[in-house]
Amino acid sequence: MRFETKAIHTGLDIGNPSKAVIPPISPSTIFEIDADGRNVNDLHYTRLGNPNRLQFEKLIETLEEGKAAAAFSSGIAAASAVLQALKPGDHIIIPEDVYAGNRKMVTDIMLRWGLKADFIKMTDLNRIEEHIKPETRLIWIETPSNPMMRITDIEAVAELAKAHSGSQKIFTLVDNTWPSPVNQLPLRLGADLVLHSTSKYFGGHSDILGGALVSAEDDDLFDQIRLIQKIGGAVPSPQDCWMLSRSTRTLAYRMKGHNEHAAKVADFLQNHSKVADVYYPGLESHPGHEIAEKQMSAYGGMISFLIEGDAHEAIRIVGRSKLIKRATSLGGVESTWEHRVSSEGEGSITPDTLIRISVGLEHVDDILEDLDHAMKE
Ligand SMILES: *Cc1c(COP(=O)(O)O)cnc(C)c1O
Repeated sequence: MRFETKAIHTGLDIGNPSKAVIPPISPSTIFEIDADGRNVNDLHYTRLGNPNRLQFEKLIETLEEGKAAAAFSSGIAAASAVLQALKPGDHIIIPEDVYAGNRKMVTDIMLRWGLKADFIKMTDLNRIEEHIKPETRLIWIETPSNPMMRITDIEAVAELAKAHSGSQKIFTLVDNTWPSPVNQLPLRLGADLVLHSTSKYFGGHSDILGGALVSAEDDDLFDQIRLIQKIGGAVPSPQDCWMLSRSTRTLAYRMKGHNEHAAKVADFLQNHSKVADVYYPGLESHPGHEIAEKQMSAYGGMISFLIEGDAHEAIRIVGRSKLIKRATSLGGVESTWEHRVSSEGEGSITPDTLIRISVGLEHVDDILEDLDHAMKE
């Protein structure tokens, strides 16, 4: 089956004895055990497992073409589970422009627990190779990166990690939140783990917080991740899992709209006199375009651009929109934008003239008219 069909039909039969076409929400925290000690689907207690969570995990595992998946209460809880699955003294290589919350988690929490990390520019393979040490266990990739839209060659990094793996394997993780599996399938390219903030395109309507990890193998690392999911306890509610499965049914069609609209907006921005630079991997002028073309089927709904002038001018422009909402986050049906460095804070390498836009599913001409208006004097 193709992606669109799998998105609509996967996971419905799990924990659904009445064969409802749309499975019910199972709010129960406890599941009855038979007199002979058996229980259906190995369910006991909702933190350890719930029908709605199992349904969503099967769905995202299938769409990312993995062998195991674990859902979390946020993207950052999923990211944190990966790092907690490593040991004190283990070393990771992570992008210098990694999602700001993940950077803070590494520097302010995980380093105190003995993790070692190098933050580097991930577009440079030699730089990555130079930083691999005997203790390196994980290479973290975010492509396109947030908000600089840098492109990392997933296949090349996965090969590098395999070539340097000894008795201790070096895992590659791809944060696939921005492209979604509609546009990019990291496990097919040789990555070991995929991370999602399902708060973004999977949820798609700016009303669910969630995260997930999908693994190429049901291996020892994933056992450890599952332990942290269940015993760390950062699990999503049955209601949120049900909502996520519902939203995922339309993911492919929403992404097609985001892709199409963003390509038009990127083109508009590129030809605008107030814009100094546009970062969108679909543009031929983007330094990562060739690699993006190789590993992505389309380029997503996120664009960053630099304004001619200073930070005040960028803030003024964002302040003038009437349709595009001034808000952080991304991936909703509505267009949002922000002066990014204002919400990233300390340690950010984002230029202060950068505006980040999440191009929504309104009529594209309405989005373009609002942009045109906001960028006028
Ligand atoms: C939002 C985001 C996260 C964090 O996810 P939350 O659901 O907000 O915890 C991680 N990575 C990327 C790329 C994101 O955009």
